[in-house]
Amino acid sequence: MRGALTIAGSDPTGGAGLQADLQVFRVCGVHGSGIVTALTIQDTSKVHRVLPVFPTLVLDQIRVLLADLKPMAVKLGMLATDDVARSVQFGLERLEADTPLVVDPILAASDGTPLLERRAWPVLRELIGRSTLVTPNLVEAAELTGLDVSTEAGCEHAARVLLDEIGAEAALIKGGHRSGAPDDLLAIRRGGAGITFRWLRSDRIAGEPVHGTGCALSAAVTAGLAKGLDLETAIDRARTLVAAGIRDAWQIGAGARVLALPGDCR
Ligand code: PLP
Repeated sequence: MRGALTIAGSDPTGGAGLQADLQVFRVCGVHGSGIVTALTIQDTSKVHRVLPVFPTLVLDQIRVLLADLKPMAVKLGMLATDDVARSVQFGLERLEADTPLVVDPILAASDGTPLLERRAWPVLRELIGRSTLVTPNLVEAAELTGLDVSTEAGCEHAARVLLDEIGAEAALIKGGHRSGAPDDLLAIRRGGAGITFRWLRSDRIAGEPVHGTGCALSAAVTAGLAKGLDLETAIDRARTLVAAGIRDAWQIGAGARVLALPGDCR
């Protein structure tokens, strides 16, 4: 069986973070391993508190795990602090160089709670620089590149910076925060042929907010890469999974809904 690894924060609701990633890995047919970077105290309405895990504990988790097993793809989610992000970076030196790495550059939760301290941005950029795919939402793309991403041209410019200046092999800029259609932009580096851009169009699905969609999308892409799918197929399948999950999302608490996943017993 193929396995994927997520290095992410804990969300006790199971809607986002490590708990959601592992559920997505499962429904995508890969074994999920998980290393926790931070605890959060949160319900479906808001993040109440964030407690980073001791950086040495993060590093030891990675060291011990990678000495024993070989994930076929790795996802990075919430990294919380500069020290934790550096531990992750150091730990990943043990990863085989050809292992696909998906970086979800989580900066803040939807309620505005910061999930990565500002001084960790340089190390986040370095991690993005060695990624197979980076999956920012529009806010993260704007923050990481300093560009205005409100137009399609602006988005393409930001994607170019993520690839050419920051060093990712591909970028998926998610359009969910757009006021109109939530189209995503996929930019891929094609060796000598430069960067190709593909706009992935979609219609907005009506309904109350859904929590953890970004986590699920990047986890599903990671699972696809772990299974050996090519990047574009992995992304297409992940978008289909997340769109269906939003359509059938369910209310587990008083706040945001969570994604429905295939096999859920209703
Ligand atoms: N908690 C954790 C651990 C997360 O990784 C995320 C995802 O970014 C969140 C909370 C916030 O999720 P949302 O943006 O859906 O509020």
